[in-house]
Amino acid sequence: MNKIVIAIDGYSGCGKSSTAKEVAKRLGFTYIDSGAMYRAAALHFLNENLSPLDSEDVFEGLKSLHISFQFNPVSQLQETYLNGVNVEKEIRSMRVAERVSEVATVKEVRTALVAQQQELGRKKGVVMDGRDIGSVVFPEAELKLFMTADVETRARRRQLELLEKGEKASLEEIKLNLETRDQVDSSRSESPLIKVPDAVEIDTSNLTFSQQVNQIIDLVHKVTLN
Ligand code: C5P
Repeated sequence: MNKIVIAIDGYSGCGKSSTAKEVAKRLGFTYIDSGAMYRAAALHFLNENLSPLDSEDVFEGLKSLHISFQFNPVSQLQETYLNGVNVEKEIRSMRVAERVSEVATVKEVRTALVAQQQELGRKKGVVMDGRDIGSVVFPEAELKLFMTADVETRARRRQLELLEKGEKASLEEIKLNLETRDQVDSSRSESPLIKVPDAVEIDTSNLTFSQQVNQIIDLVHKVTLN
């Protein structure tokens, strides 16, 4: 299998991360969750009581921000570390979900994280998911996907995920968060969420998880055979 870059973008909560993770596993590629990096940055700003809207705070925040990933052999997952501390669970909380899109609008934050993402994918053989992967981080990616799903389906899936992690949230609360993030992510001036013309759209509303994964694996085979 040729080592290629697979860029997966799309709206919040349409299963990008779990699909990307499984695709990477099946191909023996590295999975990189760019959203986890924005979430870790948002958590850092929250913890340090820094405002993403204040330029001095942004400078301070970025100076003391170090994000890394480490593979956990027990969970078999790549986990996110913020300044050496495992924050994998904390960054998935509603507290962080409610603040992350604001932090992700800040140009300096994006510049720093995009540089790190490009470095992580330099050797190829990666699946990266996010909002600007096909448009900004890897515009030369061999395969670009744009995932969508209706908001009801997304909210129900997210509610289950949160419940599995022991956090209860109402469907309405989750739906509002997904819609707000979609709106902020699509309308920001810095690298807004867009479907680039060469991306293949996959609507997962009526697909099972394995159908989603198989569709992508088929596309990978087509790309690598050409
Ligand atoms: O993918 P996930 O839902 O974890 O991303 C959390 C948030 O991080 C998104 O709503 C978006 O505001 C931001 N993000 C981004 N660019 C990316 C990945 C995530 O702006 N490449």
